[in-house]
Amino acid sequence: MDIKKIEDGFRLILEGLGENPNREGLLKTPERVAKMYSELLSGLDSKENEKDILATQFVEKYDEMILLKDIPVTSICEHHFLPFTGVAHVAYVPGNRIAGLSKLARAVDFYAHRPQVQERLTTQIAELIHRSLEPQGVGVVMECVHTCMTIRGIKKTGSVMFTSKLIGTFKSNATTRAEFMSLIGKR
Ligand code: ZN
Repeated sequence: MDIKKIEDGFRLILEGLGENPNREGLLKTPERVAKMYSELLSGLDSKENEKDILATQFVEKYDEMILLKDIPVTSICEHHFLPFTGVAHVAYVPGNRIAGLSKLARAVDFYAHRPQVQERLTTQIAELIHRSLEPQGVGVVMECVHTCMTIRGIKKTGSVMFTSKLIGTFKSNATTRAEFMSLIGKR
C-alpha cells in the first residue's frame, strides 16, 4: 500500500472541495485519512493467504450445526467508498473436520477489509469455509446498514440489507436451513 499516494490524493480532494489543506485543522488530515484507509482496507495489504485462515483444523465426530452469530462486520462499499456495518452469522455442518471459532471471525475480517459489495463478501466467506473444511454444508447470512444509502442518495435511515449464501445441506435440506434461520432469529 502506498500511504504517501493516498495522502497526496486526499490533499487533492480537499483542494477540489475548495478547502485549504494547509490550514491548521486539516494539516494532518491527509495523513490520518491514509492511516484510516490502511486499517479499514488492511485485507489488500495482508500477507495472509486465504488458505492459511482456516488451516488449523481438528478431526472431530460432530455432525450438528456449528454457528457463530452476530460477528461484527465493518467494510467499505466499493461504489461510494463509504462504510457499511452490521453483523454476519456463519454456520456449518462439519464433514469430519472443525476449525476454531475465532478463525471463522477472521475469515469475515479477511474479506471485509477491502473494497466490497455485501453480496460478494457473503459469498467469499461461505466459499472459503466450503473449500477449506469440506463440510456437509455452509450458511452465511449478513445484515448490514450501508451509509451510502442512509446518509446520502435516497437517505433511507434504518434500512438493513440482508444477504445469504447457502451451500450443501443448507441449500438442499429444508430442516437444516430452518434450524439456521431460527437460531439467528429470522424465523
Ligand atoms: Zn454504496
